[in-house]
Amino acid sequence: MESDHEHRWPLPEDAPAGADLSRCVHCGLCLTSCPTYVVTGLEMESPRGRIYLARGVDEGRIELTAAVENHWDLCLQCRACEAVCPSGVAYGRIIEHVRAQTAAAPVTGRITRRMRRFVLRNVVARPRVLRVACLPARWLATSRVRSVVERIRLPGRMGQLVAPLRQLPSRPGARFDGETLPATAIGRDPAVAMFAGCVMNELFGNVHRATVRVLEAAGAEVSYPRGQGCCGALHAHDGDLAFARERARATIAAFETDPEATVVVNSAGCGAAMKEYGELLAGDAAWAERAAAFSARVKDFSEVLSDCGGIAGLQMGGRATYQDACHLAHAQRIRQQPRDALASVSGLACVETPGSDLCCGAAGIYSLVQPGMSADLRTKKAIAFRDADPDYVVTSNPGCQMQYEAAVREAGVKARVMHLAELLDEALPPATH
Ligand code: SF4
Ligand code: SF4
Repeated sequence: MESDHEHRWPLPEDAPAGADLSRCVHCGLCLTSCPTYVVTGLEMESPRGRIYLARGVDEGRIELTAAVENHWDLCLQCRACEAVCPSGVAYGRIIEHVRAQTAAAPVTGRITRRMRRFVLRNVVARPRVLRVACLPARWLATSRVRSVVERIRLPGRMGQLVAPLRQLPSRPGARFDGETLPATAIGRDPAVAMFAGCVMNELFGNVHRATVRVLEAAGAEVSYPRGQGCCGALHAHDGDLAFARERARATIAAFETDPEATVVVNSAGCGAAMKEYGELLAGDAAWAERAAAFSARVKDFSEVLSDCGGIAGLQMGGRATYQDACHLAHAQRIRQQPRDALASVSGLACVETPGSDLCCGAAGIYSLVQPGMSADLRTKKAIAFRDADPDYVVTSNPGCQMQYEAAVREAGVKARVMHLAELLDEALPPATH
């Protein structure tokens, strides 16, 4: 993405486009929606501040220093700013390209950034390697080591080292591999092709099984195209756009085996990335059209459910609070369908909490690389849960589920943290189980 300005240092091909950066008119209407601005009150930790820095770097007025990188690195990529921006600033795209620019010539954390990229490419995106890597995580999630670590507060770096333990799901589900689902649902109506993903497939197979049962109860014919894998969302967020494009092409090819089916996604981050494949591959003549056609078929689980007209006879007692996943509410602009699905459960009281659409601080691998800001945001959720004292905390993204489990423990409340599909599955009439 070339800009007309002269640069004092070379910018990589994937640096942000000058045209995207100049859309920001500095009105500041996004500031109070930005979690990092809400916590710090600092202009440079706001969307407007970060865009100002990116534009300065693009125009060669601001040097790419460690301080500039740190302001960009603290961004959660939650896209709350994009959803409220009256000028249509494509902040999600800008920050992915900013990350690509940083990765090409990092001022800080060269080794950490390289290791992160290595793990994302060679562990997360390789199902067999990921399976092995998840074995210790599975064991630790339910071990005594975890409960000991959660009870003691370790100082400084020691605390940071064991912080990922707190994020593990308390009940990792068995891996999902499509099981008895057919590879295609060609000729069936409504046909939906299930996307399983990478980490979600390894640790949240129970959510996938619940998703299939709920969709079938709603009347959908569910297939599971074989040969699918990681969608590349985490790579795009890390600025590794070349690898994200590779994963996008592989995902599109896998789902072209069932070309008419709606592609159903139950992870908000993956769904947002897959709906934007058309944009990601717009410059690739061989794939642009296929990518746009694929993106048009992608829907969130709650959208598919709504299209099917919901399910009659759902029943469950208690109080539930829905917490928006950023990439569902802000990137996909889906807020109502999950709430409607919860409201359709007879006997369930739905409770709104303040800041339900504020990022929880999980944000992909953010909680591992920015533990301080992640913990501040988690505490805001914990306070809201303590005040509302719900029986169920419900969301639509696996990363958020792990963060909410930690927030519920911090709040000292008894709420169960569930994916929307899990709660609806438990609420199904007995005959459908
Ligand atoms: S990003 Fe949008 S809302 Fe924020 S300051 Fe720029 S124009 Fe205004
Ligand atoms: S993506 Fe989220 S954290 Fe980043 S600037 Fe926008 S609102 Fe703030």
